[in-house]
Amino acid sequence: MKRFPIILSAPSGAGKTTIAKRLLEIRSDVGYSVSATTRPPRPGEADGTAYHFLSTAEFAKAVKGGEFAEYAEVHGNMYGTLRREVAKVLDAHRHVVMDIDVQGAMQFAASFPDAVRIFILPPSGETLVARLKGRGTEDRETIATRLRDAIAEIGVLDEFEYVVINDALERAVSEVSCIIDAEGLRRVNSPDSRSIAAETVAALKAELNHF
Ligand code: 5GP
Repeated sequence: MKRFPIILSAPSGAGKTTIAKRLLEIRSDVGYSVSATTRPPRPGEADGTAYHFLSTAEFAKAVKGGEFAEYAEVHGNMYGTLRREVAKVLDAHRHVVMDIDVQGAMQFAASFPDAVRIFILPPSGETLVARLKGRGTEDRETIATRLRDAIAEIGVLDEFEYVVINDALERAVSEVSCIIDAEGLRRVNSPDSRSIAAETVAALKAELNHF
């Protein structure tokens, strides 16, 4: 089966990072693309694992050097998908899961048409507000920015092929996993199907010759 990129996009607090982490735990055929960002690390976030934390100058240099498959300003910081991260996971014959914003999702899909775009929706506005406030990692102004951005992000829902409502984590994870399996069964993602079909037809023709 061919491997392909899986883009998870969602408003901040909808749970896409948790879904991505769970997917990695339950599926050995999935890897994660570690993004680069100019945002400072939150407590517990290790460089190279959560993100590649870059200075603004380092990020600009990587943009200039064509290192990003996509990049965007999100909530006032720069974020980008490094081409080498995507290649590393695909070369290891794994689907590459990317946790990126909606602008990045559009940019990335334009250059990687086999990417599958999944939008993670919170079950309600109240849930999203409660999750954002409950994290306790952001100040009031940051939360307000993220709420405003969430309105814009939900506005482009129609650009996504799939939507998963995250009202129960395990169900949401299982739905994303089902999407990966279904996408893998597309004819274009199943290189073996062409040769099996050809062999089958040849065998049937040989059989008919003896009739
Ligand atoms: P956070 O700062 O909460 O980790 O992430 C903020 C937002 O940036 C999230 O919506 C996340 O999906 C997005 N993001 C993370 N990595 C990337 C990336 O590589 N590219 C883009 N365009 N957005 C990203």
